[in-house]
Amino acid sequence: MSSETTLPGLVPTARQVSAVVVEQEKLATNTYRLRLKCPELAQQIRPGQFFMVKEPGTNDPLLGRPFALFDTYEEDGLSVGIDFGYVSIGKLTNLMTHWSAGDPVQVWGPLGNGFPEPGDGHLMMVAGGIGQTPFLAVARESLGLKSYGNPPRELTGRPSKLTLAYGVRSKDYLAGIEQFTMEGLDLQIATDDGSFGHHGFVPELLQNAIHSDTPPDKVYCCGPEPMMEAVQKICLQEKVACWLSLESPMACGFGACFSCVVPVRQADGSWDYKRSCVEGPVFPAETLIFED
Ligand SMILES: Cc1cc2nc3c(=O)[nH]c(=O)nc-3n(C[C@H](O)[C@H](O)[C@H](O)COP(=O)(O)OP(=O)(O)OC[C@H]3O[C@@H](n4cnc5c(N)ncnc54)[C@H](O)[C@@H]3O)c2cc1C
Repeated sequence: MSSETTLPGLVPTARQVSAVVVEQEKLATNTYRLRLKCPELAQQIRPGQFFMVKEPGTNDPLLGRPFALFDTYEEDGLSVGIDFGYVSIGKLTNLMTHWSAGDPVQVWGPLGNGFPEPGDGHLMMVAGGIGQTPFLAVARESLGLKSYGNPPRELTGRPSKLTLAYGVRSKDYLAGIEQFTMEGLDLQIATDDGSFGHHGFVPELLQNAIHSDTPPDKVYCCGPEPMMEAVQKICLQEKVACWLSLESPMACGFGACFSCVVPVRQADGSWDYKRSCVEGPVFPAETLIFED
């Protein structure tokens, strides 16, 4: 069972909890799904929010790492834990591949702003690589299959059409296709090498959709920076409302360290640094300035 500590003032709803690994599953090349039991976090978190994860009892790595909510899971009708997907690329994620049922994990969250309500038009989610993880909960909430948060968020509208355009470099990296196969979700896949679905980069699927009979009214995007920059450019040109979820590296996750600041355009045309962890990670596309 998890124990709970309140975090210092900056994010009043976030808690630090001792969670426990329930299961781990390999989804694709270097890609895994971890299930943690942590009822306090599971009952609060909303689509697009994230949490920090740390292996207890080690200073290597010293800092926690951020991961987006993939989904919550239930026991007896109550959310008791979280699933998240990760790619093993460095210190913590390599350690995580060895975690198994019963292992203790330090977690703090929920953090960040999450995605806005989907509204009632065509919502298109555009994901690159592991950037697909925030969109399972968005899809399930949008289709009325699940609700999240405490009290559960009541949506004021439901999308008339819901699409996920998901791009990976090759079919061996496709993760979570089973979970994303649901009635009401149009799943479109692109691979860089043409080994599955559309042969090309995922922003091309967005371009195609914009020029189809049912163009998107709203776009949510998460993935590698060059891909998000391409999606930002298309949406600004085509005047489609768009939100980008950044994956800026961060140390604390709750606004104290300023390690995750990004330049953001202000209403008066000037710009300022904003903390991706508390003012984001989801930003309106037109406000973000990508630095080369
Ligand atoms: C809000 C948010 C949500 C996120 N959600 C997810 C998610 O759901 N799933 C997911 O997989 N990721 C997610 N990420 C990214 C995730 O946090 C990182 O993949 C994770 O922090 C990597 O930690 P690590 O300790 O394994 O890697 P680190 O050891 O910290 O390495 C990170 C990167 O730096 C490189 N690196 C490390 N050391 C060196 C060096 N000496 N020289 C050059 N390069 C080096 C590594 O190769 C790697 O690419 C998210 C990030 C944010 C901000």
